[in-house]
Amino acid sequence: MSNNWNKATKAVHGGIRRSQYGEVSEAIFLTQGFVYDTAEAAEARFQNAGEDEFIYARYGNPTVKMFEDRIALIEGAEDAFATASGMAAVSGALMAMLKAGDHVVAARALFGSCLYVLDDVLQRFGVEVTFVDGTDLDQWRAALRPDTAAVFFESVSNPTLEVIDIRAVCELAHAVGATILVDNVFATPVFSDAIAQGADVVIYSATKHIDGQGRALGGVILGTKEFIRKTVEPYMKHTGGSMSPFTAWVMLKGLETLELRVRAQAAGALAIAEAVQGHPALARAIYPGHPSHPQFDLVKAQMGKGGTVLSLDTKGGQGAAFAFVNALKIAVISNNLGDAKSIVTHPATTTHSRLPEDQRAELGITPGLVRISVGLEDVDDLIGDILQALNTV
Ligand SMILES: *Cc1c(COP(=O)(O)O)cnc(C)c1O
Repeated sequence: MSNNWNKATKAVHGGIRRSQYGEVSEAIFLTQGFVYDTAEAAEARFQNAGEDEFIYARYGNPTVKMFEDRIALIEGAEDAFATASGMAAVSGALMAMLKAGDHVVAARALFGSCLYVLDDVLQRFGVEVTFVDGTDLDQWRAALRPDTAAVFFESVSNPTLEVIDIRAVCELAHAVGATILVDNVFATPVFSDAIAQGADVVIYSATKHIDGQGRALGGVILGTKEFIRKTVEPYMKHTGGSMSPFTAWVMLKGLETLELRVRAQAAGALAIAEAVQGHPALARAIYPGHPSHPQFDLVKAQMGKGGTVLSLDTKGGQGAAFAFVNALKIAVISNNLGDAKSIVTHPATTTHSRLPEDQRAELGITPGLVRISVGLEDVDDLIGDILQALNTV
């Protein structure tokens, strides 16, 4: 596998481990364990397992390893550890590297479960966490300290789609010696260049674009070989958050079509953003890849494209938002994103309903805000449907 090949080529061929049968499609090694010819061979494996030797599926498995190697090649990371869900990746990466007394700085605009891990779990174990407005570099500067061990943020916030300057935050955080962990779900592996931009660790919920077809939960932690094998692997393999071989196979096949799907979905999102600009039912149409986005230049430099999600702030509060959502005929009402099916979400009453109202207001999650994850349907059909639904509001 040449490292010079582009992501789409790596996504099809990267990490493949063919069995003695020479199968074309990746095999599912649906086995939890492995047998040894002799007691001596078992002893040797447990003492020092080689790159292509496996012991137990919680530690590693050939199908899981194929997924890890493939996504690491695509992301430009030295290594990867696959996990049972995106949250197993977020919590695992943080718990593996932190200890009581450490200090963490995190952006405030976080996925609800990420907020729970940082604001509740870590603090219960004696880790101090300072939250900042991730788009304000002065707040990062003020919060970072010589004892800051880690920095955590989602590069594009959900659902208001604010973008954090990865390069600038990494420069500030590296100056105090902190490890930078970026949850890059909204950028997707297709538009991510986070490691080159300075991130030490990149995390994905594979449940989103990597599967992209709503079938399986999964996640992955990417970083240096040292971090993945010395820090992450011991924690994950002993605490139980590893990915199953069947899920790894689903995700491997997802990676083969990832670039095609994500580029088509992003093109659809941009076309919709253009079509709804200035609609009288909308206070705001938020799409990072549209010139009306306040951070459009940063988006172009950091991701190239605007991703697959847009948010529409309807005038008239929750009533207008519900009327719009209920009038849509193509997008399904749900809470996943990155799926082949367009998905519409009302964050204030679902994904972000546990946040107190003042925090929602602070994050811009208004009662009128509707998030749309753009799928793979015909773009003209989607635009027609969204416009007819807006016209009913
Ligand atoms: C969905 C999501 C997660 C959690 O992933 P799961 O696979 O649902 O556990 C974490 N971070 C972000 C930004 C997400 O969108």
